Order: sequence, then C-alpha cells, then structure tokens
Amino acid sequence: MKKRILVVDDEEGLRLLYKEELEDEGWDVDLAASGEESLERLEKDSIDLVLLDIKMPGMDGVEVLRRVKEKWKDLPVILCTAYPHYKHDFGTWASDAYITKSSDLTELKQTIKEILGKKR
Ligand SMILES: [Mg+2]
Repeated sequence: MKKRILVVDDEEGLRLLYKEELEDEGWDVDLAASGEESLERLEKDSIDLVLLDIKMPGMDGVEVLRRVKEKWKDLPVILCTAYPHYKHDFGTWASDAYITKSSDLTELKQTIKEILGKKR
C-alpha cells in the first residue's frame, strides 16, 4: 500500500504544489488548510507522515506538532517554514525534520524518502 502524507499549509497554492510534486514521487497526499483541520484528519485517516507549515492563522504548526506528538508519538512530522529562526525554537525540537521553504522541493523529497523509507 502507498504511504500517505498529510500536507498542512494555509496557502492553497502551496498545498496544490506539494500535492502534485509528492504524488509524482509515488506518495498518496491528503491536504489540510489549518491546524484544526489537520488534527481532524489524523483522527479519521491513516497517515504515515505530516508535512506541517509553522505559520498559519489560528492554531500554528508548533502547537499542532505538540498535540500530534502527544497523541501519535511515532508519527513523523516535517516542519516547513520560510523562517529559519524557528529551528532554534524549543517547540520545534520534537519534529523529525525541519525544512526551509523553497520552490525547489529536492531537499523535501529526499527527507521524506529517508523517513518513510525507514518505515517500509
Ligand atoms: Mg503559512
């Protein structure tokens, strides 16, 4: 069965870009437009990895990460942001990887492969 990635980002254009690019890599991709929506999806669906934007209105990615790790501690989470300084925020230590947003998704794709490859 294909591994399923949940992409959480408040920007629609980015969600669609990630979906297209990651489906091309052979992953199944679900989308959530907010932290709240992502937690609902995780309750209902079987997800293998979460790609999480930090800066979102409402519940931000740091808070989503905290809740995800509380409930599904083995679920891998990749934090994604345009702001590299979050790397030093204690709230982001619990993520499995940290990617700075870029139009080049090579690093992201490689990181996903490394994380999901291990779990195969
Ligand atoms: Mg955002």
